[in-house]
Amino acid sequence: SPGLYIVATPIGNLGDLTPRAAQILTRADVVAVEDSRVTAGLFRHLGTKGRMLPYHDHNADAVRPGLIARMATEAVALVSDAGTPLISDPGFKLVRDARAAGHVVTTIPGPCAAIAALTLAGLPTDRFFFLGFLPAKQQARAEAIAEVAAIRATLVLYESGPRLSACLAALAEGLGNRETAVAREITKRFEECVTGTLGELAARYADAPPRGEIVVVVAPPGEAPPASIEDGDAALAEALTRLP
Ligand code: SAM
Repeated sequence: SPGLYIVATPIGNLGDLTPRAAQILTRADVVAVEDSRVTAGLFRHLGTKGRMLPYHDHNADAVRPGLIARMATEAVALVSDAGTPLISDPGFKLVRDARAAGHVVTTIPGPCAAIAALTLAGLPTDRFFFLGFLPAKQQARAEAIAEVAAIRATLVLYESGPRLSACLAALAEGLGNRETAVAREITKRFEECVTGTLGELAARYADAPPRGEIVVVVAPPGEAPPASIEDGDAALAEALTRLP
């Protein structure tokens, strides 16, 4: 039926495309795509052609009104190159305008690199703050880090291999030397999740920038967690003695 369908696609392993995503992509009247060469690969996997319309940062403003108009009578799907649209990817204005025009907006949820990395990191997940990509320039990056230094939540950000070490060093400088996980190539052949302090990881990658796609997950500020249950019990007993 007509409306806007936000469709998550795999972040590496094509097996992660959900049956519902496959169905919508096959049946949609038009699929708005970031890069038609990338999504063409997905359509090949599905054994269908797909009616693709490029929708990216450079043409979105020009293309959006036409797409919104089509939603009155057609099923319009939105995908990005990988993962969940709108998450460090185009789409929020399309959703905003589709809602404003009174169209049905629905989602076909699925892979998202930020969430997948959180499940691998072994860091608290009860509160997390997504930073997307930090600014590339040193000064702007330091300012962005300073803004989040006091937030009592795990931090999640996207970064590229060549910039990883400098990014980790800047995080150590602005946040203190927190426990961190670098999740790389999630769901792909060379998936790994390397943990350590920001300083250790900055040093590790300084001379060997990693290949592939990366998510950085940084522990919340504050005391390091107790090393064992016994230590935790001792800390609790000690704290209790200080209660009035
Ligand atoms: N919308 C996407 C999502 O839901 O994850 C993210 C799009 S953003 C333009 C692309 C960034 O996501 C990459 O630079 C990398 O930081 C991260 N990413 C995507 N796929 C990944 C993977 N398989 N492993 C690790 N990071 C990944």
